[in-house]
Amino acid sequence: MLAPCTMTARASSPDRWDERIARAGRLAERYPAAADILTFYGKLAGYQQSLAARWAPAENARASTDASRGFRFEADATGLTDRVLEATTDFLAWLDEAAPPGLADAVVEMRRLDRSAWRAVLDDYLGRRGSETAAPRAPRVFVVEALLQPLAEQLAGQRRPPADRLTPPPATGESRCPFCDDRPLVGVLREEGEGAKRSLVCGLCLTEWPYLRLVCPACGERRFEALPVFTSEQVPGARVEACDTCRGYLKTIDLTQDGHAVPCVDDLATVSLDLWARDQGYTRVRSNLLMT
Ligand SMILES: [Zn+2]
Ligand SMILES: [Zn+2]
Repeated sequence: MLAPCTMTARASSPDRWDERIARAGRLAERYPAAADILTFYGKLAGYQQSLAARWAPAENARASTDASRGFRFEADATGLTDRVLEATTDFLAWLDEAAPPGLADAVVEMRRLDRSAWRAVLDDYLGRRGSETAAPRAPRVFVVEALLQPLAEQLAGQRRPPADRLTPPPATGESRCPFCDDRPLVGVLREEGEGAKRSLVCGLCLTEWPYLRLVCPACGERRFEALPVFTSEQVPGARVEACDTCRGYLKTIDLTQDGHAVPCVDDLATVSLDLWARDQGYTRVRSNLLMT
């Protein structure tokens, strides 16, 4: 199906959630194979939107922040973890009605967990965040991440990292979110002059930061011959940017092809590219919220 081809920090706002929900609806019509996942995501984004509205930015002051790393989850984040734990019960009740069949059984089991069990899940998630690979995500990880995401995005919107964290780093090692240190969910190509520039989008707080076009964000490889790019005529707005050194891949959403794309939503719609990349032996740099 695929053939080789040659080769901004953003704040949260109600409009952004509306944009994601609307995009999920449009893409569900365009990609029937992904319609179920997109329909569920649209409902989930509506739920996350209501959480974001409840967790007003001014009330997030208790979460730990510092000038050099944006915000931190790992230390002194009692206010943040309490909010997530308090939201778990209602979210599971909502999931009981809204979850797709594959998740419904897990929801029944998860509703039996008490607060201390969820705290352990959350601590584990925060401790290992970004270190997981594309292995199937446990439903508990989905629950924690779905609740953290709106809060993380709000916190990122309140803070601006130092300018030197928003410039492409010397290309060694992997690239992490300048706010929360998570791994990139997808890449984004935007028009710049005669060509396109690439940014990376954080898997948790959805912050976008600039990154070099021809460097693997997982291992820092920059030899052209080790970085194949694959595109598909069936999925014109997205591409697989692989690395033959670490065998990782980043899916990149091409906004020069479709300026209406919403990277975190278009990622869900183009799951066929992930299936193809896995068949080739590549591992995604970071899985998305719904990937199982
Ligand atoms: Zn982040
Ligand atoms: Zn690599």
